Amino acid sequence: MDSVDLSGLSSGEILIGGEWRRGRGNKYTSIYPADQSVNADVYGANEDDAREAIEAADNAWRRADWSGLKPHERAAVLHRACDLIRERHEWLAQVQRRDNGKPINETRALVTSAANTFRYFAACLETLDESLTPPRGEYLTMSVHEPLGVVGAITPWNSPIASDAQKIAPALAGGNSIVLKPAEVTPLASVALARILEEAGVPKGVVSVLPGKGSIVGDAIVRHPLVKKISFTGGTEVGRGIALLAAEKLMPASLELGGKSPTIVFDDADLDHAVNGVLYGIFSSSGESCIAGSRLFVQRSIYHAFVERLVSSARKLRVGDPSLEQTQMGPLISAQHRTSVERFVSLGIEEGGRVLCGGGRPEGDGFDRGFFFLPTIIEGLSNGALICQKEIFGPVLVVLPFDDEESLLADANDSAFGLAAGIWTRDYKRAWRTARALDSGTVWINTYKQFSIATPFGGWKDSGTGREKGYLGIREYMQQKSLYWGLNAAPLAWAD
Ligand code: NAD
Repeated sequence: MDSVDLSGLSSGEILIGGEWRRGRGNKYTSIYPADQSVNADVYGANEDDAREAIEAADNAWRRADWSGLKPHERAAVLHRACDLIRERHEWLAQVQRRDNGKPINETRALVTSAANTFRYFAACLETLDESLTPPRGEYLTMSVHEPLGVVGAITPWNSPIASDAQKIAPALAGGNSIVLKPAEVTPLASVALARILEEAGVPKGVVSVLPGKGSIVGDAIVRHPLVKKISFTGGTEVGRGIALLAAEKLMPASLELGGKSPTIVFDDADLDHAVNGVLYGIFSSSGESCIAGSRLFVQRSIYHAFVERLVSSARKLRVGDPSLEQTQMGPLISAQHRTSVERFVSLGIEEGGRVLCGGGRPEGDGFDRGFFFLPTIIEGLSNGALICQKEIFGPVLVVLPFDDEESLLADANDSAFGLAAGIWTRDYKRAWRTARALDSGTVWINTYKQFSIATPFGGWKDSGTGREKGYLGIREYMQQKSLYWGLNAAPLAWAD
């Protein structure tokens, strides 16, 4: 086992309503997906812990030692959180690597992103104005924003520290309390983040972190009447269930869900850039990424030459030990998830697909205990094939030729999802036309998987509703109030 110090996290304590203690839910073991060594025993939360945390969060919100602070005072705490994350950058990156087995260079980038998210929302909080709105009578009108109260945040296992920050930072900036439920299998980075927030000065009870089963803890959070908003990132089916429960409560729910993103390579593209971008788009994070560019459309005139280059480069990708700087692909999250990826590959073959590279587990030293899977490229299918329609969430790319823009757009948009897309071309007019015509929340042109915290992110269609990031991200965690101030010299013309 490598030597990451998990001692501060391994007593199994989680943060429930301002107290560090063991949850009353199921005890389980967090393991490192690269070799199944033990990270820590976790005592997950149960419904009672969730109820307690929600009530404490509501009390904290009413107590107003967070919600009642002036914007610059809350911002100072968020800046401290950013500083502390930066101070512990390497440790947090190692904790996140142990949690989900992502290569260290990726987890470092995730920690940087988390730190920057706190800094960004601190800046937004201090600089966002409220507005005077145009009156139509003898009064002055204003629009102001108030916190919602208790926010429930539910996150997946693929990038916990970054997705937690994307919810916690704007929710705290907005003056809310938060009950965070990270994925059961990746509790460590979220617990580490909770310790940092406490140290930064977030008052007791304002943030709780409740690892545990989604169907128990997550469900209890969604249903509780004191929870006023759910911010969810995860799979589409779970998200749809949450949306239904939220509708019953008339509670806003922002849903960042799955994807099956098309990447398009036109015949005039810079092929060196395109090969790299396509490989990075699908195989970084071992394809366990909502925005993975998992359907590749290549213009027929360059199809064979391009796919040949792609396959040759994919075979050279460095799969292996996530603690090494040079590693490009680590293991998948679990044995169960790898089995699901393998089933999709078999299904693709049954549907008539040809595996051009990968398609199975790597062999040799260092691979025997981890949940590794090789970068896999499949051709020979139509867009209607199940593996072109279902989210695999693994390192599997399906390539398809196209002849013209019309048929390309029909196929690219023929998907239940609408999260992201990529276009590779030197023709800016074609890029513009195609980008505008794609059903997609984000389109990358001659790049892929780049992110700015200042740019809103979210999905179309089954990929979700609501937006995270961007300076209006705080407003997603606030409710609007209009104020009318009478200026009449005389009483309203009503009573004598
Ligand atoms: P998941 O939907 O199984 O779980 C996500 C979270 O929801 C976990 O914390 C889980 O415990 C919880 N949960 C499960 N059932 C619940 C229920 N009934 N009520 C409340 N909470 C419940 O997803 P996952 O397997 O952890 O993550 C992979 C999925 O997340 C993929 O579909 C991926 O595309 C998506 N994802 C989306 C984005 C985005 O920004 N759009 C980002 C990352 C991941």
